[in-house]
Amino acid sequence: MTEYDYIIIGAGAAGLMMADGMAKDPAFKDKSILLLDKDAKKTNDRTWCFWEQGPGPFDPILYKSWDHIYFAGKEFKNSFSIAPYAYKMVQGIDFYSGYLERIQKYPNVGFVQETVKEITEFPSHIEVIASEHHYKGMQVFDSRFNYEKIQNRSKYPILQQHFIGWFVKTKQPVFNASQATFMDFSIEQKGNTRFMYVLPFSETEALVEYTLFSEKLLPEQEYEMAIEQYMVSHFKCTDFKITDKEKGSIPMTCYEFSQHNTKRIFYIGTAGGWSKPSTGYTFRNTEKKSAELIEFLKTNKPLRKFTRKNRYWYFDLLILNILYRNNELGRSIFEALFKKRSPQLIFKFLDEETTWYEDMWITMAPKPLPFFKSLFRHLFWRITNSKKQW
Ligand SMILES: Cc1cc2nc3c(=O)[nH]c(=O)nc-3n(C[C@H](O)[C@H](O)[C@H](O)COP(=O)(O)OP(=O)(O)OC[C@H]3O[C@@H](n4cnc5c(N)ncnc54)[C@H](O)[C@@H]3O)c2cc1C
Repeated sequence: MTEYDYIIIGAGAAGLMMADGMAKDPAFKDKSILLLDKDAKKTNDRTWCFWEQGPGPFDPILYKSWDHIYFAGKEFKNSFSIAPYAYKMVQGIDFYSGYLERIQKYPNVGFVQETVKEITEFPSHIEVIASEHHYKGMQVFDSRFNYEKIQNRSKYPILQQHFIGWFVKTKQPVFNASQATFMDFSIEQKGNTRFMYVLPFSETEALVEYTLFSEKLLPEQEYEMAIEQYMVSHFKCTDFKITDKEKGSIPMTCYEFSQHNTKRIFYIGTAGGWSKPSTGYTFRNTEKKSAELIEFLKTNKPLRKFTRKNRYWYFDLLILNILYRNNELGRSIFEALFKKRSPQLIFKFLDEETTWYEDMWITMAPKPLPFFKSLFRHLFWRITNSKKQW
């Protein structure tokens, strides 16, 4: 059985960032690292977008970046300059191939395509049983995620950011290539939080996504009909080709993912709770968290000390509780935010970098009543310490 210091399960965003970060850090030069994935990571299965100020580590593989975003609510709509931020996009395939190529050059890292079936933890080590081989390791970082694991165990509401996107090519120029549609709530809400998300690559090419923040997925044709209608109603375009599609569902929850960590198994990425609960944005957070985790490993402190709740966890919880109970309120909350506060401040808040004063300023933008109700419900729940979902 081959032995490794670290075994990373999953060569997705988190696994690759962890493997690369450790391999290029001299502190890990004598450590052996195995990266396992069931997939060869040769398909463009997703696009990642994130906002960032100035240059960043993914700039060499950026597909497109925008310096303006568009937001539309029911009554308010606006195009915003987001300087000093840029809204950046990376294609999955460029990320996977770039990272895998680099990782395979490190002498102490190996990538193997195999499906992990089981992990057994012993006091002194871990055994990973994969489809072809068994591996022995001292520490596992696991990025496998499944909803079932959290669905019946959560004390907290679980929503999903779910979507289907079409990559379209139109005959006529219809898109404004310098502006990404961050959220367009001008569509029918049908009792939910539903919006269109558009990433234009040129005047004739874009990714158009129908997105919900809600509890349950829709039948596929409902997302697709909505995209088709939007192409007609918003872009006045019927003559277009679908060149590709993407779909996804990202958990939106304050669920305590860290409860699954053990002495030798530590969950990372979405499986480790690295998706921002109130938005589903994960990619940039994964970059930050993996860098922090690598620094933390050098301290030799127990990994259970790595995860801490901060005040943004409570903000996320308040908003998720509102959206869970009154899913139709999403549009008015986001509309108030974008009408009354700058996108720069909203990005800063979502990046969890605001001051207390800025936090108050942001939270005072939407109507306060649902937030007070959500806060009181949480306090009541804390006092009664109910095991029930609150
Ligand atoms: C279509 C789509 C678009 C998204 N867009 C954005 C975005 O724009 N911005 C953003 O911030 N976030 C976005 N996300 C959310 C999030 O960034 C991604 O889901 C991200 O890939 C999560 O990284 P991860 O490493 O946790 O999981 P993944 O990238 O999914 O990696 C998990 C890996 O584990 C492997 N695996 C699973 N089971 C096994 C097994 N048994 N054995 C071996 N390997 C296994 C999988 O093959 C996969 O490679 C998007 C998600 C999707 C699905």
